[in-house]
Amino acid sequence: MAFTKKTVRDIDVDGKRVLMRVDFNVPLKDGVVTDDTRVRAAIPTIEYLVEHHARIVLMSHLGRPKGDGPEPALSLRPAADKLRELTGFDVAFVDDTYGTKAKAAVDALEPGKILVLENVRFDKREKSNDPEIAKILSSYGDVFVLDAFGTAHRAQGSVVGPAAYLPAVAGFLLEKEVDTLTSIFAEPARPFVAIVGGSKVSSKIGVLDHLIDAADTLIIGGGMAYTFFMAKGCTVGTSLKEEDWVERAAEMLKRAESKGVKILLPLDNVVADHFGEDATGEVVDSDKIPDDRMGMDIGPETEKLYARAIAAAKTVFWNGPMGVFEMDQFAHGTEAVAEAVASNTACTSIIGGGDSVAAVNKFGLADKMSWISTGGGASMELVEGKALPGVEALEDAK
Ligand code: ADP
Ligand code: MG
Repeated sequence: MAFTKKTVRDIDVDGKRVLMRVDFNVPLKDGVVTDDTRVRAAIPTIEYLVEHHARIVLMSHLGRPKGDGPEPALSLRPAADKLRELTGFDVAFVDDTYGTKAKAAVDALEPGKILVLENVRFDKREKSNDPEIAKILSSYGDVFVLDAFGTAHRAQGSVVGPAAYLPAVAGFLLEKEVDTLTSIFAEPARPFVAIVGGSKVSSKIGVLDHLIDAADTLIIGGGMAYTFFMAKGCTVGTSLKEEDWVERAAEMLKRAESKGVKILLPLDNVVADHFGEDATGEVVDSDKIPDDRMGMDIGPETEKLYARAIAAAKTVFWNGPMGVFEMDQFAHGTEAVAEAVASNTACTSIIGGGDSVAAVNKFGLADKMSWISTGGGASMELVEGKALPGVEALEDAK
């Protein structure tokens, strides 16, 4: 499925004021950006706009301010500094979003130059999608560009609002993300192997359901595997379990079977006697988890089983780590799966989800994947088959 909305390529931006919502929600430490992935991801569109002499007004949220006014620790200034450092472009920052100071800075903006506004969430009305916010922001632009994939699933003022007042189109990141994450479901090269892990079944119901419809093989790992084991009538010791979801997990297993979708569950597990940095692991088969042990990672036999399935794939979608990868002693399963995906150079590999992406980065394998999504929640909603409000609000391509 191709992207069906207009993009910056479809409009004239020369000399125009382009109001662009980006996702500069970056991690900060002592006022410095510690991971600039999201700033980098916005550069292709910004570069295009600079080359086409637009006057570029960038806006974003950062963190979770209370919404009662400025909070210096959550200022966007460090993100603006990072953008200037990465591109060498003329990037100004104004410590105002909705007031006369912001308006004056916008009015002074020359073609080919960039202005970054202060955090849109310093005012409560952003999150409540107050029409007043949309009106003020829209007055800063002649056109609106949405490139904030990471927040495109939120119907908030700066994400959906300006589309009511200005011609509204997508930036390149948004286009690529939506295109990639929808086309694997429309026409995947087969076999399509989906890998789902992470902590809970309950937080991934929509994703699991949709993957059972789309994939040929569904590999399950992480904490959620234990709820599936319970659905099969096995005991799981003190592993993470969601009793309320056992029945739903059983239904999924049944539905997968009736559709001929192969489900792979761990054969063995690395278990520990408690959850903690100082915990040590031991390997036990899945049907022999002691009552006082909890599953923290997939075991070595499981790594081999999963690697074989991944090696045969033409399409891989992966969301959710195979174990508690934040602790080195329980990161091996996730690393083995990441290696298996990375070494299958014949497949299209798409990684989505905050922690899964962090894991792939941690193992230094990011550049071996076909696509790493910059959006956690937004990518999950696409994988669930939902439409994103931000995208819906844009103009349809002819
Ligand atoms: P993502 O952000 O990629 O969507 P999730 O947020 O669903 O992934 O899950 C990530 C979390 O799951 C990690 O913090 C990890 O420690 C945890 N996790 C993985 N395996 C287990 C397990 N066996 N027991 C408890 N937590 C687990
Ligand atoms: Mg997560």
